[in-house]
Amino acid sequence: MSKKKDNFKIIEDHIWKLKEKAIKEFHLDETSLDIDIYYNLNSIRVLGMFVVKDGVKSFRFNKKVIVAAGEKKYLDVVTHEFAHLVVYEKYFQAAPHGKEWQKVMQIFGAAETSYKTTSLSKYLKKAYSDKLKKIKCKCHKGKYTLGIVKADNLLKRNAKCVKCGSKFKEVH
Ligand SMILES: [Zn+2]
Ligand SMILES: [Zn+2]
Repeated sequence: MSKKKDNFKIIEDHIWKLKEKAIKEFHLDETSLDIDIYYNLNSIRVLGMFVVKDGVKSFRFNKKVIVAAGEKKYLDVVTHEFAHLVVYEKYFQAAPHGKEWQKVMQIFGAAETSYKTTSLSKYLKKAYSDKLKKIKCKCHKGKYTLGIVKADNLLKRNAKCVKCGSKFKEVH
């Protein structure tokens, strides 16, 4: 591992543990699991990413969400992304969250509830509360948290809910 800062020790330790497990369980060699770690993901939608660009692999983690959620809770995201790395090395071509990926998650002991990291989306909202706006319609089935620009666009053009036909309003 290179080009990393040491400020998230719990996350880095977790990655080491996953590495050891991947070497043992999937017979991958250590160098194939070498990966750069960046904490520069800044997205109101994405919790983490596994990226391969020009043959260089990296994890991109969202520092704001780590701070909002706490490192320990963020480990679900780390396991999720690490499983993508294992699938990439072991199978190369496989559906992003297909059966190979699910099997890796299973062997990593990830709880099935963490396969979709929706439980962490509340931290995304917390971390980016200044960049998000909530809107709702009359039927209340549609209560949406959107980026401010998108929400404002919908409000400005008086967009209507497809279910109840009422205009969206901002929720305070
Ligand atoms: Zn994924
Ligand atoms: Zn509605």
